[in-house]
Amino acid sequence: MNEIVLAKAQALFTGIIDGLPNVPDELKQRDKREPGRDRKILYENKLARALYKRFKAQRDKLEYTLQLWYPQRMKSEPPTDDIFTDAESEAEIIKILLLSYGHGVQLFEDEILIGLDYTTFNKEAADWARVHSTRLFKLLDDTSRGAVRSAVSTFIETPGFTIGDVMEILTSQPGSVFNSARAKRTAITEITDAYAQAELDAGLELKKQFSDVRVIKTWFTNNDSMVCPICGPLNGVSVEVGTPFIGGNGGEYDAPPSHPNCRCWMSTRTDILGDKVLQNG
Ligand SMILES: [Zn+2]
Repeated sequence: MNEIVLAKAQALFTGIIDGLPNVPDELKQRDKREPGRDRKILYENKLARALYKRFKAQRDKLEYTLQLWYPQRMKSEPPTDDIFTDAESEAEIIKILLLSYGHGVQLFEDEILIGLDYTTFNKEAADWARVHSTRLFKLLDDTSRGAVRSAVSTFIETPGFTIGDVMEILTSQPGSVFNSARAKRTAITEITDAYAQAELDAGLELKKQFSDVRVIKTWFTNNDSMVCPICGPLNGVSVEVGTPFIGGNGGEYDAPPSHPNCRCWMSTRTDILGDKVLQNG
């Protein structure tokens, strides 16, 4: 790729895709104190692999589509919509989210000594995973679609820009939409979300079944120098279920994650004595 073409290509991708934070991923770990940590990391890795498989399938379909056009470069709008569906990885992703949510409910069950009727949670988990994954696929694909359009337009308009260059931009650059770093980042956020949602839903259910008991949720961060300014002040902070936490940015959050790559977790407990100090008084 020549320098001008490269500069032009990179200019297309300046800016932050999915709100990439400043801390390198490899420096961040899930907190040692975190309940269910090993299984969470296992699901996180499985999810990262499934997401990357999906990105790779999309990338391969795009490459094939471009090869069909080449060398005419005639079309002004690339037919990119049909490259995004990949049933196999989608099923795998939904399954991992479902298992994570289920494990989240189990962790809650281990902590709470009051017997709760958990039979509703199988359906709850299935509903959550289905709705949530549909939204996740749309979010990911919308960003990817934008990047693919830009790269393909450049390919069509710029002499000397090859299919290989398109693939390199979409796969091998730091902000590329089809790279493994994006898959990893998304997996971390999604696993954090699945577990926190399970705690949140179980806490609300507990409140419903035992309305006279105060049920509180507590936010935990890794509490190290890499914690972001939104989550940092929330470490150890409790509020009653049904009330949002107020983050360091003044924003309201029902549960982690408060941002992409957030490794915070939440614990829901009964507060029978009602003596826990809450963030909102
Ligand atoms: Zn966080």
